[in-house]
Amino acid sequence: MDTEQVQTKTETFTFQAEISQLMSLIINTFYSNREIFLRELISNGSDALDKIRYEVLMNPKVLEPLPELYIRITPIKEERILSVRDTGIGMTKADLVNNLGTIARSGTKAFMEALQAGADVSMIGQFGVGFYAAFLVADKVQVVTKHPDDEQYMWESTAGGEFSITRDTTNPPLGRGTDVRLFLKEDSEEFLEEKRIRDIVKRYSEFIQYPIQLTVEKEIEEDVAEEKEGADVAEESKIVELSEEEEKKPTEQKKVKKRVKDIEVINTMTPLWTRKPDDVKWEDYASFYKLLTHDWEDPLAVKHFFVEGQLEFKALLFCPRRAPMEFFERKPGARRNNIRLYVRRVFITDDCEQLIPEWLYFIKGVVDSEDLPLNISREMLQQTKILKIIRKHLIKKCLDMFAELSEDADKYKMFYENFSKNIKLGIIQETDPSIAKRLADLLRFPSSKYLEDLGTTLKDYVTRMPEDQKGIYYITGETRLALERSPFLEIFKQKGYEVLFMTDPIDEYVMQHLREYEGKPLVNITKENLDVSTEEQEEDKEGDEQLCKTVKEILGDKVDKVVISKRLTDSPCILSSGQYGWSANMERIMKAQALGDSSMSRYMSSKKALELNPRHPIVKALKDKINKGQKDDKSVQELTRLLFETALLSSGFSLEDPNQFAQRIHRIVGFGLNVGEEEEEAATESAAPQSTAAPGPSEVTPMEDVD
Ligand code: ADP
Repeated sequence: MDTEQVQTKTETFTFQAEISQLMSLIINTFYSNREIFLRELISNGSDALDKIRYEVLMNPKVLEPLPELYIRITPIKEERILSVRDTGIGMTKADLVNNLGTIARSGTKAFMEALQAGADVSMIGQFGVGFYAAFLVADKVQVVTKHPDDEQYMWESTAGGEFSITRDTTNPPLGRGTDVRLFLKEDSEEFLEEKRIRDIVKRYSEFIQYPIQLTVEKEIEEDVAEEKEGADVAEESKIVELSEEEEKKPTEQKKVKKRVKDIEVINTMTPLWTRKPDDVKWEDYASFYKLLTHDWEDPLAVKHFFVEGQLEFKALLFCPRRAPMEFFERKPGARRNNIRLYVRRVFITDDCEQLIPEWLYFIKGVVDSEDLPLNISREMLQQTKILKIIRKHLIKKCLDMFAELSEDADKYKMFYENFSKNIKLGIIQETDPSIAKRLADLLRFPSSKYLEDLGTTLKDYVTRMPEDQKGIYYITGETRLALERSPFLEIFKQKGYEVLFMTDPIDEYVMQHLREYEGKPLVNITKENLDVSTEEQEEDKEGDEQLCKTVKEILGDKVDKVVISKRLTDSPCILSSGQYGWSANMERIMKAQALGDSSMSRYMSSKKALELNPRHPIVKALKDKINKGQKDDKSVQELTRLLFETALLSSGFSLEDPNQFAQRIHRIVGFGLNVGEEEEEAATESAAPQSTAAPGPSEVTPMEDVD
């Protein structure tokens, strides 16, 4: 007897701090769409049924105490209680302690942050804390549950930071599964109404694969012999007297109407994916998608197909309207795999990485295989070849779906803004060139000729290419404005060649993987050895060589080499990157990522070439001075360095020592403003470029070699 008493003792637990915060947030938020609590509880019931059905495959005995699989909703009006019961796996005492209150879930905090950022409460299920939605409508919740491996327990909480668990001997034995009993708040009585419940189930849970039963009160007519009246009536039935008219009928048998409880199945249950695609309406897809994903919006696109022949499976794939939040992308343990795998209608797992590649993790859906063995373990799954074939089909169908989306400008814009990174990741990850080509077709870039919308496709770019153009030209950088004005574009403008503008950090990697499109090489125009050059060449080879040599001497190892540029028309100089080194943009990205391997970074970023424009007046003047033997002149040295630093900036690199650059500029500004207080008074007027407007003491110099 003693042990029995110990077992039934109630234990109290404190909610983990964040869960407690979440609950008070839920209880106190005014939220009009409270009905979603039912979707969350039904979804938990359905998951629990999936689990028991999977258990049965290994151990058929677990079904014995209760063979039927269902979810049953019972309103108990008199007590203002709504019961949501399932015959699923149930929870052990340890499950109750861990799953419903004490173990922090990464989604708890993320969900609260999302709410503060304006997310909708109905997204709660996506964060793995859907159970607590019960507190949208209830101020007290009891969870009575029986797991095959444990006794029946009752969890109870009125929020407020604590919950209790009792070995349950008071409620009727469940056999197996869970009964969530909601003690509804005064303002939530509507959820006891049959019609309201039917509507909610229809809206959110229509395609749950298990029967959703509703306990209804029905009025039935029964013939009752006069003398026996009332004797057979069940306790809960209320006898309603017949109307006068009927009563007058001359009969020995009396007809009585009575109210009885009955059970009705209120969902259709045929798995949507098994229906013929032609017979399914968009609304059905949309509600199935919402059920599957807890998303509150319709999907952007759907692909529903059957594969037949040697391998057979049915699949339903959805592309959401929005990329998942940061949380889902980055947090370890966050749910990433969104394809539910079934074998002949039996749910097997939603955590099968082999089914879909990483870049397609945003796709949600269902795959139902006819070929896999029913009792396949999750470990065995990883080895089967069937999955590899299914995966190939899924990739292909997703590509079809994206290509179809691209035919609708608005939809494609939404798709691209949300998922272009995934497409790009796909190009990097996929090794099959035919897939890479189809992915490349989905890319969009603004260009020097096409700035509208998302930009141009590579295909359209190629059709616009003049005959003599050899490659597909692109430039990468931080902002489009910076790219549009980049000195690297000069020659392309002159030649009428289009240049693609790429501002996404991943673009550069993508181009390195893609290398070419329809046989045309993809060329980064900030690299050296460009196959484009100006027609007119100056013929002062010797002078030019001397210029380059001297400038290289002045700059030392800051540059790999100094050359005469064949691509500049308006700017005096630029810094191009080595063919195999990092571009300016890549250097910026790598610095930002601080990858730590400084030797790599020194090697990759050192290959810069200073290209001088021999037709530019500044370069001409510099050459003149150098050829006159003034290379040791401080002003020549100083201006050369300034020219180099300016080229760094205009070519998209960053300055190693911005202060030194600023000092050089200040001296020039000072000179322009006739600030004569400086101590140094050594340079000549010619040292200041374009200083014709500066009258006054020409002997004042802004120049000094600060290196
Ligand atoms: P999620 O279902 O997304 O994991 P919830 O907050 O809805 O998050 O539920 C937390 C956990 O509690 C579930 O993962 C499950 O282990 C358990 N649970 C909730 N409801 C049930 C139920 N009806 N039957 C069995 N286990 C349940």
